[in-house]
Amino acid sequence: MTTHPLILRVAIATPLRCLFDYLPDAASNLKNLQPGLRVSVSFGRRKDITGIVVSISNQSDHPQHKLKKINHVIDEHPVFNHKHLRLLKWASDYYHYPIGEVIFSALPSSLRKNNSITKYNEKIWCLTEKGADFETKLIKQAPKQSRLLNYLQQRRSPANESEINSIYSRSKPSLLSLEEKGLIRRSTEDVTDGIIKINRSPFTLNKDQQSATKEVLESIDNASIFLLDGLTGSGKTEVYMTLMESVIRAGKQCLILLPEIGLTPQQIQRFKDRFEVNIAIQHSGLSETERTQYWLAARSGKAKIVIGTRSAIWTPLANPGLYIIDEEHDLSYKQQDGFRYSARDMLITRANRDKVPAILGSATPSLETLYNVKKDRYKHLILSTRAANAKPPTYRLLDIRGKKMHGPLSQTLVDEITEHLNNKNQILLFLNRRGYAVHLFCHSCGWKAECTRCELPYTYHKNINRLVCHHCGVTKRHIEQCPDCNEPLLLMGHGTERIEEVLTTLFPQATISRIDRDTTRKKNAMHDYLERIQSGEIDIMIGTQMLAKGHHFPNVTLTGIVDADRGLFSTDFRASERLAQLFMQVSGRTGRGVKEGTVVVQTYHPEHPLFEQLIKHGYNYFCNSLLQDRNHSSLPPYSHMVFLRTEAHNANDAKHFINDAAMQLNQLTNNKLLLFGPIPALIEKRSGRYRYQLIIQSQSRKALHTYLDRWLDKIESSKSAKKVRWSLDVDPQDMA
Ligand code: ADP
Ligand code: ZN
Ligand code: ZN
Repeated sequence: MTTHPLILRVAIATPLRCLFDYLPDAASNLKNLQPGLRVSVSFGRRKDITGIVVSISNQSDHPQHKLKKINHVIDEHPVFNHKHLRLLKWASDYYHYPIGEVIFSALPSSLRKNNSITKYNEKIWCLTEKGADFETKLIKQAPKQSRLLNYLQQRRSPANESEINSIYSRSKPSLLSLEEKGLIRRSTEDVTDGIIKINRSPFTLNKDQQSATKEVLESIDNASIFLLDGLTGSGKTEVYMTLMESVIRAGKQCLILLPEIGLTPQQIQRFKDRFEVNIAIQHSGLSETERTQYWLAARSGKAKIVIGTRSAIWTPLANPGLYIIDEEHDLSYKQQDGFRYSARDMLITRANRDKVPAILGSATPSLETLYNVKKDRYKHLILSTRAANAKPPTYRLLDIRGKKMHGPLSQTLVDEITEHLNNKNQILLFLNRRGYAVHLFCHSCGWKAECTRCELPYTYHKNINRLVCHHCGVTKRHIEQCPDCNEPLLLMGHGTERIEEVLTTLFPQATISRIDRDTTRKKNAMHDYLERIQSGEIDIMIGTQMLAKGHHFPNVTLTGIVDADRGLFSTDFRASERLAQLFMQVSGRTGRGVKEGTVVVQTYHPEHPLFEQLIKHGYNYFCNSLLQDRNHSSLPPYSHMVFLRTEAHNANDAKHFINDAAMQLNQLTNNKLLLFGPIPALIEKRSGRYRYQLIIQSQSRKALHTYLDRWLDKIESSKSAKKVRWSLDVDPQDMA
């Protein structure tokens, strides 16, 4: 350690697990240097890259003459405050992920470069004298312009463009026209705070909603975690909005996370209709500029509501008042590569650190959350009635062994479809598999069409007449004859395209839509489908899990689960939990309106306890028995887990690496941790790489985490690491 006058400890986006020491440049005013500022530095061979000052010290491991000066300071004010930097440091420690990568992933990508923040300061609009008393009705043929003008007249003070945009989407052209007409102009005055106009809910909350709301409000100034447990359609979103209203009126901000599939334009619109405030949206579909402007609005406190998907959890808030995560069990909250954080767990961490409440909403809570409720760490709020008095659906478990089938659909299911069609109701068929057929094989010699990089069967997609590997995405020309013996090949196993074909033949009069990733690639495709479903235009929809979650289809009275058996016999210990969640979510699509709903479940294993427990006793009963199993075998949440994941072109390299790493960990910990491995991943080979895992487990989180950093240092410098790709996964959510 050498003592220096002033050392800047800088985070840089590199895989190295440390900060880098720099000296200030001559031009910097030393008094203004502070943590959170971005600086330009030279690093290795690169002359100008962006770093962030994490701390300022007068100690360094390096002598002064070895230290470089920074090139210059980029920002006038820090991009992150102390509190946020500490949160990011915490995340880097907990997930054992390099601090530089963690900090940079929390910035909008435009600010990861040297861009000045002022570049993203947005336009502020105000009325001209003419515009102030202009009759909005006079703007004929441009209803949008008259609405915008009316808004500014009501508001009586300048408004940010993003605020206007968050209320009236795509308003730019109309604003420019109003400017041209001399009715509005750009203001130089700053907007101190967005106006707050909150519309009344069209409903009175029911008893459950009222008591849930009351209980949260009573602890609104504390860090308490709530599970809001209610079936889909039980009115959770109404509870969120009621709570948000009082938080916003108290001058604070709300962060709400939605699963990737749940953040639809309709869902955002629902919040906009209720809250005419500055709403910041954070998801990957925005342009860089939009995303940065919203991010700045959240950080400054101007945005009262921040809505986004997983990565929105890193948005800094000036004045947090409430954290909400909807469908908390959803797998999209766990990042599955690189920095493998859980947005749900980070949300709870943030709420605790900020001392404000967090609400985890779900119809099918995760076992972790149910366990925390049992331990009295979370309060359990239950919405037991469906809001609009809808009844829970009736289940029919269909044993399809030996039954007459039309492709994947049994005669009984076809009869049900006919009946519901005759009653002018809508039908949803669920199959979590795209494409036409899942196997292409030769009946005479046993040859199979397999992706050589993954050693797994290709799926045949009839629409494009190609074979597609669903694991690595490779596609290949379809073949009809066996390359080994020239016999015609057979197609086996059904996908959504096949159901569509069968239904089109059976019900030529019905309007049938297949809704999966293949048919919704275009930008507004999903939106259009949802509108056509709502309007009643579509009679039968066939969907994968993207259709199973969160949507409200009041006229669907029949849901068919075409293949309920997938996942029943998986080796992933979470498979039954996931299957039960999906099962309940799919069933939740039915009977959400005034009509009663039926769920038909096709299975070859009607005796499986999962069905009996779920259908007869419900999700919570089923989860209690799952929790007992987990307790019995000391699996999470009754223990803590970390995976060391590896992939290599040569399977032995991966196994060697895992064996070496396991030995090193045992040496460090004196065999105190439970280690299993090398264990092949569920998808053992993907894109030409063999994949193995080391499972590290302990009852004590502390014991598990204490040695990991030292161990990672050792692994990083080990010889066997050079031949593989590896990563650490803390609290892993799947074995795939
Ligand atoms: P969830 O978020 O639990 O799926 P929602 O809040 O979306 O449930 O509510 C489902 C439907 O019921 C929505 O159309 C909503 O407008 C309506 N709803 C919610 N609360 C009430 C209430 N208290 N009275 C009448 N309708 C309600
Ligand atoms: Zn053959
Ligand atoms: Zn493949």
